[in-house]
Amino acid sequence: MTLSQSLPQPALIVDNNEHKQAERELKKALEFAEGIIAAIPDVLFEVDQDGRYLQVWTRNPELLAQQKEMLLGKTVSDVLAPDQAAIAMEALREAGKEGVAYGRCICISLPNGETRWFELSVAKRPSADSTTTLLALSRDITERKQAEEAINSVRMQLLSVLQTMPDMVWVKNMDGVYLLCNHAFEQLTGKTESEVVGKTDFDLFAPERAKYFRVTDEEAIETGGMLVGEEWVVSEENGQSVLLETRKVPVMDAGGDIVGVLGVARDVTELNVSRQKIHQMAFYDPLTSLPNRSLFNDRLRQMITSAGSRGQRAGVMLIDIDHFKAVNDTMGHPVGDDLLCQAAARLNASVRDFDTVARLGGDEFAILLPDISQGDDLGRIAHSILDKFRERFLLDGQEVFISCSVGIALYPNDSADANDLVKYADSAMYLAKRSGRNGFRFYSKDLTASAEERMRLESDLRRAIERGELELHYQPKVLLDSGVMVGCEALLRWRHPEMGMIPPVRFIPVAEDTGLIVELGQWVLREACQTATELNADSRSPHKVAINLSVKQFQSAGLVKSIADILDETGCRAEWVEIEITESLLLDQKDETLQALSELRSMGFSIAIDDFGTGYSALNYLARFPIDTLKIDRSFINSTDRRNEELVKAILSIARCLGQNVVAEGVETAEQAAFLAANGCGSAQGFLYSKAVPKADIIALWLRSPAGGPNANERLCETIPS
Ligand code: C2E
Ligand code: CA
Ligand code: CA
Repeated sequence: MTLSQSLPQPALIVDNNEHKQAERELKKALEFAEGIIAAIPDVLFEVDQDGRYLQVWTRNPELLAQQKEMLLGKTVSDVLAPDQAAIAMEALREAGKEGVAYGRCICISLPNGETRWFELSVAKRPSADSTTTLLALSRDITERKQAEEAINSVRMQLLSVLQTMPDMVWVKNMDGVYLLCNHAFEQLTGKTESEVVGKTDFDLFAPERAKYFRVTDEEAIETGGMLVGEEWVVSEENGQSVLLETRKVPVMDAGGDIVGVLGVARDVTELNVSRQKIHQMAFYDPLTSLPNRSLFNDRLRQMITSAGSRGQRAGVMLIDIDHFKAVNDTMGHPVGDDLLCQAAARLNASVRDFDTVARLGGDEFAILLPDISQGDDLGRIAHSILDKFRERFLLDGQEVFISCSVGIALYPNDSADANDLVKYADSAMYLAKRSGRNGFRFYSKDLTASAEERMRLESDLRRAIERGELELHYQPKVLLDSGVMVGCEALLRWRHPEMGMIPPVRFIPVAEDTGLIVELGQWVLREACQTATELNADSRSPHKVAINLSVKQFQSAGLVKSIADILDETGCRAEWVEIEITESLLLDQKDETLQALSELRSMGFSIAIDDFGTGYSALNYLARFPIDTLKIDRSFINSTDRRNEELVKAILSIARCLGQNVVAEGVETAEQAAFLAANGCGSAQGFLYSKAVPKADIIALWLRSPAGGPNANERLCETIPS
């Protein structure tokens, strides 16, 4: 049925022009209305106030709940599910009252089994008579509804993700008004979502913080990108300080316009702790907590850069604890560690606040001293370090004297290069050590020369043995009361092809540092044993050859065995040899060292302590280990200091008590010899009698001496008072 058929027809057709005109216009209007209905995909119903279907127009009959013919005469409640019918009736009632009713949605099951959604727009149909009918336009909105539902479910999922996220999340609009916040936000701020949404930071937080939030929001909006920052806040949940890493990004609408700011904040407190731990591990020494070598190097470069730009001077100091190894070996590593910590504290206490004390490794420390006004400043600081070390250290309940050696290099005077400065301070420190320790030295150009010389000696020394450049000389040892020779000391000489005769003080330390001393020592032992065999061949009394052995030789494996082999090889007897060791060897409490020493002694070698009195002053080793001979260092003999005479007397009385022989070294004058003899010193060596001489000479001397060769009757030295 068309609309014109369904509408009431005019009752009378009056045959005049006016009527005809009216009729034409009515027809036009009806056709127009029909056109509209044909154009829209919706269904149009006319119903009465009880919801009874009076008319139905549609070009999509499949959208009807029942066929049109079946619908007419039934009510909405007959056709629709009760809840949907109720919604439809509500719309009809509202339109009846208000004239129109829009926007209600109902859901209808269609005959083909589909369920579809319709939106109702209802209007009261204007009519001349009193019967009121309603026109209801029902629009299929199923697709829109489905899309909405999909969006809604995604939204719900997102919201629940937001709520369970450990990170704080919030969104604010352009005016800084909160639009949403999640559970983590609520927990940290102690404010619920309902308290937050609709408010600005100024309503929620202290003005300072609110201002900061606002400024960072604006920054994120301005830059249009992500803004990352960190800040400490106090958690309202547990009162603890929390480090937050906050990211802010602008929020855009569909058109790409910025409409607000999204914030996400993560608790990075623990991460920060581990970051700090890693930093601590990478840049600090775990024992002393001082900066380590790599942080030292960093700071050294910074110091040089800043001193350079300000035209300032700066210092680098290297500090090495004297005889640290002895403490470590005798008292144990935990005590050694304790000493390092105490030393670190004293170093820190000796320098200015802005200086850096670092531990470079082992017992080696370094100090960076920026802004040095005069070289003197460095000397003063070095003095104060030495002073601090002069106070006794308490180690494992014992009071111990510890000293250190300090080397100093100055920027830019010595060098402007970081590596050079460290190298130079190191050479200066080395010099301080060589000059008797417990002191400080400034770097000088000569030191580089000596470092270079060391390197040259090192490489030349490797070839010295095979090239036959080494010689062994022998210094006679005589009885003080008679001047009769009783033995000698083997002393190494190096005849360098270009540098001439090099004294052992210059190359023995190099040999010890490089480990070459083991090979050299082996050569010395063989040579000296060979000489001892020759000296004793026809002798009336035994001639003892003293041989110097380095600590390093004892630390190398197989010393005893190789000495035994040398005895076999050379036909030398152990009682013809005295082994000279230094005090530090006895402080080395390693079992192997003492074991080797005991074995040598039981093989028949006698043992002498060389340079007695100059080393680590711990006399208890004398009681622990049987020593045959003490050699008083020549610094005590060749001295004008009266106190040294007293020390010599004291050493002599110790030796007497322990039944030990004493050899005075470096006797140069008759007065010295007389003093020693008067105080009961048994024998002596020194230039007064003879310097060290080549093998042929010592043999000749021995053969001429009263104790020596069968025909000897000459005294070695007539000057000795008897
Ligand atoms: P040392 O064992 O204390 O040797 C004594 C040093 O004093 C020798 O120096 C000797 O020439 C020197 N001397 C002797 N009498 C006098 C004197 O009256 N006045 C003065 N001013 N000096 C005197 P040298 O030969 O230069 O040896 C120096 C050091 O080198 C030795 O000191 C020893 O520690 C070491 N050395 C020498 N040869 C060897 C060796 O074969 N092996 C090892 N491990 N060290 C050696
Ligand atoms: Ca010696
Ligand atoms: Ca000596």
